[in-house]
Amino acid sequence: MTVPSDALEAIAGEVKACTQCPLHRGRKNAVPGEGSGVSGIYFIGEGPGYHENEQGRPFVGSAGQLLTELLESIGLERRVVWITNVVRCRPPENRDPLPAEIEACDVYTKRQLTALAPKVIVTLGRHAMSRFLPGEAISRAHGQPRRSGGYVVFPMYHPAAALHQPSLRQQLFDDFRKLSDFLERTPATVAPPPKKEEPRPVTQPTLF
Ligand code: SF4
Repeated sequence: MTVPSDALEAIAGEVKACTQCPLHRGRKNAVPGEGSGVSGIYFIGEGPGYHENEQGRPFVGSAGQLLTELLESIGLERRVVWITNVVRCRPPENRDPLPAEIEACDVYTKRQLTALAPKVIVTLGRHAMSRFLPGEAISRAHGQPRRSGGYVVFPMYHPAAALHQPSLRQQLFDDFRKLSDFLERTPATVAPPPKKEEPRPVTQPTLF
């Protein structure tokens, strides 16, 4: 797959200068996302934390270390997946992102999705899942691929949750194994790339 680095770099440049929601006021560095589209996997979490804000990179703190471990458990390196968040500037005191902030930042989510045309979107945590599967409960949906708009969405718990609840750690490893199995048995055509930026997907949850 050709990785559209020019498009991704252009989006990153706009994110770094973005003032479309109040979160820009407290940021040290915006965090557009990083990685590549070669695996066809697009990870999306909730928002930058302290370390991400310091470095301008996603998932570089302890939750990021666990994400790297989870990827390695199924034979993937970080550099072959795309990693971003539903908001790209750090919420104060690490609070949850507000719906209006997620909505404001969604233009970059849509544009990155259009540029990368992923085979599967892996949502990390309930805020990212709700963006694609509104009304769904993560306790019920995790580890199961669904369709949302033109995409396949694979919800998972956020790695940070597993740092606080050790019982979720094994669940995450189990769900990554399910993701690996799903990718092995799913042809690349299951999630055809959208022709252009799509409006916010109308969700039609369908269990595979
Ligand atoms: S969180 Fe997103 S919309 Fe808000 S200022 Fe940062 S880049 Fe812009």
